[in-house]
Amino acid sequence: MSAEILDGKAFAAKVRAKVADHVGRLKAAHGITPGLAVVLVGEDAASQVYVRSKGKLTVEVGMNSHTHKLDVDTPEVDLLALIKQLNNDADIHGILVQLPLPKHLNEALVINSIDPAKDVDGFHISNVGLLGTGQKSMVPCTPLGCLMMLREHHGSLSGLDAVVIGRSNIVGKPMAQLLLGDSCTVTIAHSRTRDLADVVRRADIVVAAVGRPEMVPGDWIKPGATVIDVGINRLDAPERGIGKTRLVGDVDFASASAVAGAITPVPGGVGPMTIACLLANTLTACCRANGVAEPEGLTV
Ligand code: NDP
Repeated sequence: MSAEILDGKAFAAKVRAKVADHVGRLKAAHGITPGLAVVLVGEDAASQVYVRSKGKLTVEVGMNSHTHKLDVDTPEVDLLALIKQLNNDADIHGILVQLPLPKHLNEALVINSIDPAKDVDGFHISNVGLLGTGQKSMVPCTPLGCLMMLREHHGSLSGLDAVVIGRSNIVGKPMAQLLLGDSCTVTIAHSRTRDLADVVRRADIVVAAVGRPEMVPGDWIKPGATVIDVGINRLDAPERGIGKTRLVGDVDFASASAVAGAITPVPGGVGPMTIACLLANTLTACCRANGVAEPEGLTV
């Protein structure tokens, strides 16, 4: 058996096209252009790449992109003042503070200073609570992208057994909430889980969000299950040349794709969906702020 590849790159392009279409109609009918502000503190190389790519794709879908680059030693009070200014700016509908922040900054305090209605990452405590109680919220981008792919593949998820490996606030926990919202029977596994292999073998849906290269082998996967690999791990690849690297997920793709019914690749799976969902969230926030109907299918 060879699994269907869930092509996140192609699906993300469709989501972005849908966002762009709606942005065009918002502009034409209401004269509104959604605006996304991204705040980057420090020089972290990976974060700089993410921020550049977010800015480029924001502009491509017709939104305004505002990037604020702050020095690595920016005092917390200055960062909070910038967020306050963005909260009060009617042209800004989404605010994203790129994580991780330098150690001297209190991440929770900073995130919770963002207006929840503009919290397009969905990390504000109010949005966490709204999602947990099944109310309308801003939904974290990576789990939202995973859910969209699962819905696209399965249609209804009702009654399916789902295992989420990882219990972080940004992926594992919100992913579990979303699956529960779609009436899956959800197990959250983590580093203390006993007999993880046995837990995974029972699942119709496996979401791996651990950060350990290829830790889930094919013989843990129930035949025909759907595997969503969130992990992004960079490994040395001397076979590609000196200093070269390659990306792998948390799932051993070769063995898992021989057993699973469907699987996301790394790269080209969950990663592109995350940025597409950031744009979708910015559009959703803009529609809500202006009392305009939200597009269908871009949030839960
Ligand atoms: P965290 O490090 O915050 O969480 C990892 C989770 O994995 C923890 O809950 C931890 O358990 C669990 N874990 C660690 N070791 C094991 C183990 N041996 N068995 C079972 N569970 C284990 O990571 P994130 O959630 O932030 O990210 C997870 C992965 O997803 C990373 O590779 C990250 O790069 C990637 N990622 C990808 C994104 C994308 O767009 N594709 C976006 C965000 C993240 P415990 O709580 O007990 O320590």
